[in-house]
Amino acid sequence: MLHSQNNVTLRALASETLLFFLPQEVREVQMRKCATLVLLFFCVHLACAAQGRPVTIQASTLLDGKGNVLHGVRVVVQDDKIISIDKQTKGPATYDLRGLTVLPGWIDTHVHITWHFGANGRAEDKNETPAQAAFAAEGNAWKTLMAGFTTVQSLGSPQDKDLRDAINRNVVSGPRILTALSPISDPNMTPEDIRVYVRKMKAAGADVIKIFASKSIRDGGGQTLSAEQLSAACSEAKVQGLRSVVHAYRSAVSVAALAGCSQVEHGTLGTDDDLRTLAQRNTFFDPQVGLVIHNYLDNKAKFLGIGNYTEEGFAQMEKALPANAALFKRAQTIQGLKIVFGTDAVAGAHGRNAEEFIYRVRDGGQQPMAAMISANSLAAESLGLQEQLGAVAPGMQADIIAIEGNPLDDITAVRRVVFVMKGGQVYKNVHISSAN
Ligand SMILES: [Zn+2]
Repeated sequence: MLHSQNNVTLRALASETLLFFLPQEVREVQMRKCATLVLLFFCVHLACAAQGRPVTIQASTLLDGKGNVLHGVRVVVQDDKIISIDKQTKGPATYDLRGLTVLPGWIDTHVHITWHFGANGRAEDKNETPAQAAFAAEGNAWKTLMAGFTTVQSLGSPQDKDLRDAINRNVVSGPRILTALSPISDPNMTPEDIRVYVRKMKAAGADVIKIFASKSIRDGGGQTLSAEQLSAACSEAKVQGLRSVVHAYRSAVSVAALAGCSQVEHGTLGTDDDLRTLAQRNTFFDPQVGLVIHNYLDNKAKFLGIGNYTEEGFAQMEKALPANAALFKRAQTIQGLKIVFGTDAVAGAHGRNAEEFIYRVRDGGQQPMAAMISANSLAAESLGLQEQLGAVAPGMQADIIAIEGNPLDDITAVRRVVFVMKGGQVYKNVHISSAN
């Protein structure tokens, strides 16, 4: 759609240039005609912006994001929103997605969207230019959107802000981004320092506060922030109207829940009691079963030798793999625990976020429907955006994807995203209609 608009503008410019080779009178008439056309073009364009024609999507199988499967329905989209889901299927639809599985765009509640491999092939490139970094981040955003993820929470980097804002202004294409900007990680900060920092992040445009309450798993994962420090961070976030997401292993898991934080990440080596505390405190839990560690192991040469990416660090990660799968299995048995979808996607993992669904189902024993809900309505709820995202229902944002096959029968279908609509705009449509 954007491209065809550009073409119209280009053609108008070309004909204006040609006009100057015509005789005076012809030129004036042509110019007036041209002005009328231009005026007409803008009027039509404005009218479109005010209220576009409805777009329809025909689906034979639709997962609504909340656990329901609908068959033979037509989704009607107006501008950026879903206005109805009809049983009536007369006449051709704008997009015929029969034979595919249609569902809400996925939400990944934990990525590092700007993190990438440099031109030197490593996870750190000291000679990288700001332009190289910006292109790489934009590439990550594009790959993520093409993989069916229409919203991500980036936890976080100061560069997220410009990318988020450029996507919101439609300068570049990518998922909706919510960002923590710079996380809280310094154990030497006093509770008052922490409160000041939270307010500073809010003023800088953060959507969420990220807190490191444990060391990296490569350094053993010990607790780094006290209950008092965590309480300062999470209560101040609440005062500022922001959610708080905590990187926590071992004992830090329940400490974060008791401090009133919104969500706990990882949770490796947490006990069943820690998990029950999460459920009791209504704290969302985002454990990772496979993608992030497999990605590190598969790309070992690109990370090795940087910071704590040592041989010992890699050995720790390898040990964490079975522990994480076991933790995930235990977490599913804890009543009332809200397990959301988050991959912790770093360099090398962007655009492969859906692999985590496969790890969760295959290695973590999750039901495919529960896996889908965790990245749709439940993820939206964890972001406080359940009224706008995570479901195909009237009034919701038109974030709709379609995949070849059905993930309920074969979870690897999540790799085959052939249609992506975000906010009513189609970014990918490589489906060959069965009707053709
Ligand atoms: Zn992370």
